[in-house]
Amino acid sequence: MSLAEQLDTVTGAAAGTVDRHATTETFESTAPASGAVVGVFPVHDEAAVGETVTRARAAAERWAALGFDGRKQRLSAYRGYLARRMHELADLVHRENGKPHADAILEITLAVDHLAWAAGHARKTLGPRRVSPGLLAANHAAYLEYQPLGVVGVIGPWNYPVFTPMGSIAYALAAGNAVVFKPSEHTPAVGAWLAAAWRAAVPDSADAFQVVTGYGATGAALCRVPVDKLAFTGSAATGKKVMAACAETLTPVLMELGGKDAMIVDDDADVAAAADAAVWGAMSNGGQTCIGIERVYATEAVYDRFVDAVTTQVRSLRPGADGEATYGPMTMSSQIEVVRRHVADAEAAGARVVTGGTDADAFPAEGYVAPTVLLDVPETSAAVQEETFGPTLTITRVRDAEEALQRANATSYGLAGAVFSASKDKAMDLARRMHSGMTSINSVLTFASVPALPFGGVGDSGFGRIHGEDGLKEFTRAKAITRQRVPLPVNLMSFGRPA
Ligand code: NAD
Repeated sequence: MSLAEQLDTVTGAAAGTVDRHATTETFESTAPASGAVVGVFPVHDEAAVGETVTRARAAAERWAALGFDGRKQRLSAYRGYLARRMHELADLVHRENGKPHADAILEITLAVDHLAWAAGHARKTLGPRRVSPGLLAANHAAYLEYQPLGVVGVIGPWNYPVFTPMGSIAYALAAGNAVVFKPSEHTPAVGAWLAAAWRAAVPDSADAFQVVTGYGATGAALCRVPVDKLAFTGSAATGKKVMAACAETLTPVLMELGGKDAMIVDDDADVAAAADAAVWGAMSNGGQTCIGIERVYATEAVYDRFVDAVTTQVRSLRPGADGEATYGPMTMSSQIEVVRRHVADAEAAGARVVTGGTDADAFPAEGYVAPTVLLDVPETSAAVQEETFGPTLTITRVRDAEEALQRANATSYGLAGAVFSASKDKAMDLARRMHSGMTSINSVLTFASVPALPFGGVGDSGFGRIHGEDGLKEFTRAKAITRQRVPLPVNLMSFGRPA
């Protein structure tokens, strides 16, 4: 099926939802840079969100009753569907988000990997088990069960419109919940495609995974309806609003928020490998990555070589939309202003732009930001303290790895980070002490996604964990059951008292 036909299908699927909910307001999704219309989608109001959650609640009972094996079989069917249509979905991601096709394939591959892991490990992680009853209840059997919550709401961002929400959706479904997903207003077509694919691949449980589209108010309605848990991924500022809305209904939340990830490059590091990793970590996906590297602290011994290696590579990056392009346009034009402000503020405070920058001639084309490397940026400036979320990198010269760690830890964020050092013990020590939920060592994958490992942040980067066993347990409530096997030979009211 051609892309145009596929988009009609997506828009048609969403339009079908409009009819079901009698919602009349719509919004357009447009391609970055070109502004071409990708699709028209309903703005679901609170009543429409309520109806969707009601259907999901009915579906949740049937979905939970399928048990681990029944769900695994259906999640595998969904996984197969996504894998078979990977290029079709990647084309849509490319069109709506702007990222190169190859980057879209990468994130879909990761999403498929998570679907497989979540489905394959749910029984082992969440299956009922007996535990030791302890001394007081020695005459009891003690059981632990992880029960599904019911309906999980998932609110997603636009930067990885498949991989990021799937990190919650796959695990919530595998744990036995129904899911209602509100994609970003910048990538509704991708969200609608994911739900349409579910209906096609898993027709007997179609309502177990549904999508509602719209702006922030549609997401906030999920807290008010309410759902049984809300998994939010987005900025820290929005996360605070979501928490406030969910507080009214005591809806539990999981917060996957922004980052300002740092890399430490120590005296004995492999400088070429560190430079490769820094460029990929900072510039891939146009720098619009929550776990992207935004700051590097390199020791005196390696600083000059590191700056040269990074600068050479960054200058060779190629903007555009074709297969050769290494980065695409900024998905949201408003984000260009954030990048401009951070770079301009840094320059005004004395920073040096080695490559890129905000001069008009540094911009490759309308909608694009030039990959930018900044040196000598004061630690108090926005480019060091706030999430830039663009293709920028600050590199700071430090005395040693201890100073690097102290500076790396000096922002309010703590999502991921990277360490380059030839000493395994020293690198492990730095990784443990880094203020982050995830740290990589000597890895070209500065943001490795290992399905079995938990994903999440500390500080302003949020709380709760998706992925892995922790990610499955996030979408359950632990239930304790004790059963007396043999009667106690004493009456507890008189236990330990004189006869
Ligand atoms: P955003 O906070 O602007 O929006 C995220 C989602 O929240 C969107 O779907 C939006 O419609 C919705 N929303 C907005 N206001 C709302 C409200 N009041 N109530 C409920 N929902 C509301 O973020 P964004 O610009 O889409 O995404 C970029 C941000 O996401 C960055 O900060 C990035 O670091 C972060 N992010 C984090 C992770 C992670 O796993 N930690 C992953 C990807 C992106």
